[in-house]
Amino acid sequence: GEFIKVSELANKMSIKSVELIKKMISFGIIATINQLLNQKTAQLIAEKMGHKVILYNKNDLEKSIICDRVIDNTLLKERPPVVTIMGHVDHGKTSLLDFIRSTRIAKKEAGGITQHIGAYQVKTKKGLITFLDTPGHAAFTSMRARGVKITDIIVLVVAVDDGVQPQTIEAIQHAKAANVPVLVAINKIDRIESDPEQIKHALMKHDIVPEEWGGDNIFIQVSAKTGKGIDDLLNLILLQAEMMELKAIDQGLARGVVIESYIDKGKGPIATILIQEGTLKKGDIILSGCSYGKVKAMTNEVGKNINKAIPSLPIVILGFSSLPEIGSVMYALNDEKKARELAIYRQEKNRENKLDKNRRLKLDNIFENM
Ligand code: GDP
Ligand code: MG
Repeated sequence: GEFIKVSELANKMSIKSVELIKKMISFGIIATINQLLNQKTAQLIAEKMGHKVILYNKNDLEKSIICDRVIDNTLLKERPPVVTIMGHVDHGKTSLLDFIRSTRIAKKEAGGITQHIGAYQVKTKKGLITFLDTPGHAAFTSMRARGVKITDIIVLVVAVDDGVQPQTIEAIQHAKAANVPVLVAINKIDRIESDPEQIKHALMKHDIVPEEWGGDNIFIQVSAKTGKGIDDLLNLILLQAEMMELKAIDQGLARGVVIESYIDKGKGPIATILIQEGTLKKGDIILSGCSYGKVKAMTNEVGKNINKAIPSLPIVILGFSSLPEIGSVMYALNDEKKARELAIYRQEKNRENKLDKNRRLKLDNIFENM
């Protein structure tokens, strides 16, 4: 059933929690401010205190998050591709990202110290590209399990001198399961002693087939050290994106995904969000899982303040009241009360689910011991 905190009930009746607690004592109910009251009890108390109770279904509240959104498909607009670099450890994922970051993001744009955030967008002559640092494979799997899709294209990095390795294969499996096209970057070609053809053959076994052999995977040779081939890589990413006709509505309330989150000692919860729909503005009310808040500040990958974020832009947000979970969907809402109620409702639901799970576990144990 539904529960309400004593403090929340007081809030709804526009009285102080202490007043409510005192009143409840006079009714013979001893409760603390954080205690949960079941619906019947809460209703009786409120009615006894002369309030009219209107019950509404919280599931409808959940649904209203979706209903408040702009869904007019004629408003779809082209958006930049979101690219994730994956591959075996030490094959050069970080080096590649760093090379692109350092050559493509103008230093003068930096509003101070460059933060190292897990996502950034670069400008090329042919268009914008958003890069994500490999979210750990586990995070990737959990997002997929929740039906959250964050990446449009996977760049699979394979070091020419090390070839196809276990995590290369794992990355291919992720890409196939998520139905995301794979572009292969054969890296470290400045060290060339080995034969890239061998890698092509090895990848064929995993259904990654170069275009020139009749498949649909683009291959490119690069060096994250010298930068060779990286401009071509960017062009090929944009070519792939063009074929995919990536679009999103950039109007109305924003929806995004939490890419990373942490607590800053001075500033509080900080989250990197990839916007996927709508426009997020400074001052917007936001909800992500059980965390809600208000966008106090938004910055880009170089720490520059921005007031508006549209689809495919990763931004760092200050304003969540608690730490949002990585991989969870963030919604902008038009009502702070609604955001708070939903956050509390979800917290309670989580708690109930956990309790159920514990109960189930206990039962399982009983059966095991029989
Ligand atoms: P990650 O584990 O995939 O992120 O790999 P890193 O980017 O950390 O690279 C692993 C090592 O390979 C580092 O010592 C890099 O300097 C080196 N490395 C990466 N790319 C290249 C490259 O193109 N050429 C050469 N020679 N070394 C590279
Ligand atoms: Mg790395």
